[in-house]
Amino acid sequence: MGKYDVVVIGTGNAALSAALSAKENNSRVLILEKGPKDKRGGNSFFTDGAIRFAYGDIYGIQQVIPELTEQEIKSISMPVYKNEDFYNDIMRVTKNESNPKLAEHLVNKSFETILWMKDQGVEFELNENQYFKRNNVLEFWGGLPVKTKGKGIGLIETLLSKVEEQGINIKYEAKAVGLEKSSNEISGIYYEGTDGNKHLIETSSVVLACGSFEANKEERMKFLGKEWENAVVRGTEFNTGDGLRMAVDVGAEREGHYNGCHAHTTDYNAPRVGDFSKPGDIYKKSSYPLGLIINNKGKRFVDEGADFRNYTYAKYGRETLKQPDQKAFQIYDSQVSSMLREEYGLDEATKITSETLEGLAEKMEINPTQFKKMIEEYNDSVQNGDYNPSIKDGKSTKNITPPKSNWALKIEKEPFYAFPVTCGITFSFGGIATNTNGEVLDTSGKPILGLYAAGEMVGGLFYHNYPGGSGLMSGSVFGKTAGASAAQYINNRSLNLL
Ligand SMILES: Cc1cc2nc3c(=O)[nH]c(=O)nc-3n(C[C@H](O)[C@H](O)[C@H](O)COP(=O)(O)OP(=O)(O)OC[C@H]3O[C@@H](n4cnc5c(N)ncnc54)[C@H](O)[C@@H]3O)c2cc1C
Repeated sequence: MGKYDVVVIGTGNAALSAALSAKENNSRVLILEKGPKDKRGGNSFFTDGAIRFAYGDIYGIQQVIPELTEQEIKSISMPVYKNEDFYNDIMRVTKNESNPKLAEHLVNKSFETILWMKDQGVEFELNENQYFKRNNVLEFWGGLPVKTKGKGIGLIETLLSKVEEQGINIKYEAKAVGLEKSSNEISGIYYEGTDGNKHLIETSSVVLACGSFEANKEERMKFLGKEWENAVVRGTEFNTGDGLRMAVDVGAEREGHYNGCHAHTTDYNAPRVGDFSKPGDIYKKSSYPLGLIINNKGKRFVDEGADFRNYTYAKYGRETLKQPDQKAFQIYDSQVSSMLREEYGLDEATKITSETLEGLAEKMEINPTQFKKMIEEYNDSVQNGDYNPSIKDGKSTKNITPPKSNWALKIEKEPFYAFPVTCGITFSFGGIATNTNGEVLDTSGKPILGLYAAGEMVGGLFYHNYPGGSGLMSGSVFGKTAGASAAQYINNRSLNLL
């Protein structure tokens, strides 16, 4: 093992961003990855690639997607999305609990960071899941108009090619297990190799970017509650809280919403843990604002139209987990079925169809009389109004609980569809205390010299909920920041030693 200035833990978006940023700042970088080569890329590999940033207006988007022609721009209607909009979205969905400094850093750096990602070779495209086409105009909603080409797969493959091109070494099947600290500074990192032994790499700087504890059953039960024991893990099996433990062992402060997590409704028959041979986020079920969600007692339990999908999906997974058998069904009729996202039509989707509501209930194995009564009550409560899924149209229900606050259409046109879903955990919100330089803080709020964190490991950003597409941007912003800070620390240290 050669001499490295900065050792980065993980091969997800945050880690690869940190590695490239440290290298760009003249450091010798090594990456350690717990998984084998064919299971690299972390949760980032599994993503849909939706990435949130403050773009200003459509011309900000054009800087990110230069192929966008003036002609195409004319057929796009896209709300302005400035720094304050992104910031307000974070604060609104986190009930103002997000650390304002971290949130500001994420927001204010988002645009320059996406341009930096472009410089690394990452390509972007318009996000086809974030508009509805009306009168030949693409009407965007929800502040998330861009995704990476090839989803998370494209993102990770591009960053890995760049890492390779830069001559950065990656050691696979090298599980980081502990940090070494001497005289209050990081002096090395231990990893467990395929030989089962512990090895020390001497280094003065480590960037931890190895996820939170979502794939660790015991820690899920400890921090989130017993009901999380068997939750589907939507992403990598390797994010088991190792980085959090290593940091805490050398004095880092835990921070953030330890009993909160991002959890989405996912196909009831999805793999229990992310399958690296089936990435692309193909099991999620995100179109519920177009329909209804019911449990297997035939009862609704959330306001499907409370807000755009981007601001409710990360908390509705948890609501699904609270239902009998941790199961629910999304119900649609054929007025909206053509608007369902692509995933609903895949072979992997579990789909129930019937010409009648009773027939649908029977196939769902729920009481047909109760189901029909619930739909009739819902239909009777639907108010008149102009239906428009691109805006919060206020077309709502009256006198039912929970209400449907927008996009309330009657369920009346056969055939009818039901998609069984359960809760899939995406990532846990608990992390470690860091500042806007990406430095890890100890229990007295001081930086632990030479220790940095990025991505899911940054505690204090997300509480209760999350604006869709912020995870990737958080990984990129804090990864880039942490890599640059780690390199600067090494450079300053060398100068001091001269
Ligand atoms: C199915 C799915 C879809 C998603 N879709 C989106 C989306 O469209 N947009 C969005 O913004 N976010 C999305 N997310 C969330 C997003 O993936 C995360 O917020 C973000 O990618 C986390 O990046 P990260 O680099 O911190 O972690 P990860 O990408 O999970 O990387 C962690 C890395 O650390 C490695 N590791 C763990 N422990 C160790 C150890 N001890 N030693 C060495 N290596 C270790 C792991 O193997 C992995 O490579 C999605 C997540 C999932 C699961």
